[in-house]
Amino acid sequence: MSEKTVGQERMEALAYSKKNVFEVYDAEKIEKIFAYAEGYKAFLDAAKTEREAVRRGIALAEAAGFTAYTLGEALKPGDCRYYNNRDKNLFIFRIGEEDLEKDGIRILAAHIDSPRLDLKQHPLYEDSGMSFLKTHYYGGIKKYQWTAIPLALHGVVVTADGKTVDVVIGEDESDPVFYVNDLLPHLAHDQMTKPMASAIAGETLNILVGGVPFADDKVDNKIKLNVLNILNEKYGITEADFMSAELSAVPAFRARDIGFDRAFIGAYGHDDRVCAYPEMTAIFETESKHTVMSILADKEEVGSAGVTGMQNCFLKDMIELICAARGANPVLVRANSLCLSADVNAAYDPNFAEVYERRNSAMISCGTTMSKYTGARGKSGTSDASAEFVARVRRMFEENGIVWQTSELGKVDAGGGGTVAMFLANMNIDTVDMGVPVISMHAPYEVVSKADVYTTHEAFCAFLK
Ligand code: MN
Ligand code: MN
Repeated sequence: MSEKTVGQERMEALAYSKKNVFEVYDAEKIEKIFAYAEGYKAFLDAAKTEREAVRRGIALAEAAGFTAYTLGEALKPGDCRYYNNRDKNLFIFRIGEEDLEKDGIRILAAHIDSPRLDLKQHPLYEDSGMSFLKTHYYGGIKKYQWTAIPLALHGVVVTADGKTVDVVIGEDESDPVFYVNDLLPHLAHDQMTKPMASAIAGETLNILVGGVPFADDKVDNKIKLNVLNILNEKYGITEADFMSAELSAVPAFRARDIGFDRAFIGAYGHDDRVCAYPEMTAIFETESKHTVMSILADKEEVGSAGVTGMQNCFLKDMIELICAARGANPVLVRANSLCLSADVNAAYDPNFAEVYERRNSAMISCGTTMSKYTGARGKSGTSDASAEFVARVRRMFEENGIVWQTSELGKVDAGGGGTVAMFLANMNIDTVDMGVPVISMHAPYEVVSKADVYTTHEAFCAFLK
C-alpha cells in the first residue's frame, strides 16, 4: 500500500474538482440511475405538450395518493393535493407538520412547455398538388432543424359549442406523420450561402398534410377539401374550428437510449420535462415535515406570461390560500420559503468549445447543476441567489452524498438566457436555479445523461426532506 504524499493529501483537502457520477457512485447506485431513466423515458413519450404533461402528472400524483384540491378548501398536516390550472399548469403539494410561518414552503418550479411549431388560426391551404398547414413557431428554435423530420400533431380543438376534441396523430406506429419540406442541395446554391438564421424563413415552416383530391370536378381546392373531410369524419370538426384550437407539431421521435453503453437519453423536450419529472418523483417519494410544493408551469419558453405562466399572480394566490387554510401570515411564509427553480442548463460540448468557458460550464455526467445566476451581458435579468442560500442548499446536497456541480450557460457575452427563478425571487422567496445539463438544447432531439437526471431527483429529494 503506497502512502499519500503531502502534496496529494493537501490536494485532497484543499482543491475542488468536478467528478463523473458514473465513476463515483457504487454499482447499486448506478443500477438506480439506469432504472430511474426508464420511468423518465415513459413520461417523455406520454407528455410531449404541457397539456399532456399535466394529464400524466395528475395520473402519477393520484397513483401516489394525492387528490384534487378545490380552491379555498381546508387543509391539515399530511394532506396531499394537486391543483390543475387550466390543464396546462399543475401544482402538487403536501402540508407539513412544521409551523408554516417559521418554516415556509419548500418549492420546486419547473416548466412543461417546449419549443415547437404551433398551427396558425387559418392554417389549411393547398398549392401545387399538396395540402399544408401554416405554423408559427413557439419558443427559441433553429428553424432549419425542423425541416425534413417526422412530425406529430398534438393538441385540442374546441368547437363553438364548447366541446373539446383531443388530437394526437403521428405517435402510433400505424399513424401517418407530417413533414416540413426542405430544398434539395442541387438547387440550394443561394440557400447554402445564407446565414443559418435566414436560410429557412418562418413562413416556409408549412406542414405537409395531404395530396389526394376530393373526387368531385365541381369544386376547387380538392386536396384541401379532402383533408377537411377526413378531419370532419375523424374528429367532427370544420375549418372554422381551427380558430379555437391549440394544435402543435412536435417531433414524432420517441425517447431512446444513446450510446453503446446507453449513458444518454435522446428525446424531444428534455427542456424542461427532465426537471418536471424529478420534481414529481421527489415529492412523491420524500417524507418531510416541511410543507412542500412542486410546480409544473407553462409558457416559460415565451416569457412565462399569461394565466398558466409563472408571472401569473396565481402562484401568490395559491400560497395565500394555503396560508389562509393554516391560519398563517403569507408575508412570513414567503419570507421563510425556499425554492429551487428547476430548469436545464447547457452542457459543455467539446464540438462547440468556443462558446463555453470550460471551468464554469456544466460537464455532462458530473451531476445536477446549480446556476447561482443567469442573465445576459453583465448578468442582466438575473435574480442571483445569495451566497448564504447557496451554502444552505450545498449543505443539503453534501449531507446526502449527492454529486452536483455549478455552472453558467456559456462564455461571458456569448449570449444568455433566463428561467423562472426571478419570478419566485421577486416574491421574496430565496431561489436558485438547479437542473440537468443538456446537449443540443431546443433541438427537436435533445440529449441528457442518465446520471444527471438521477442526481437531479436525488437533489430534489434532499431539498424537500
Ligand atoms: Mn427551460
Ligand atoms: Mn428552454
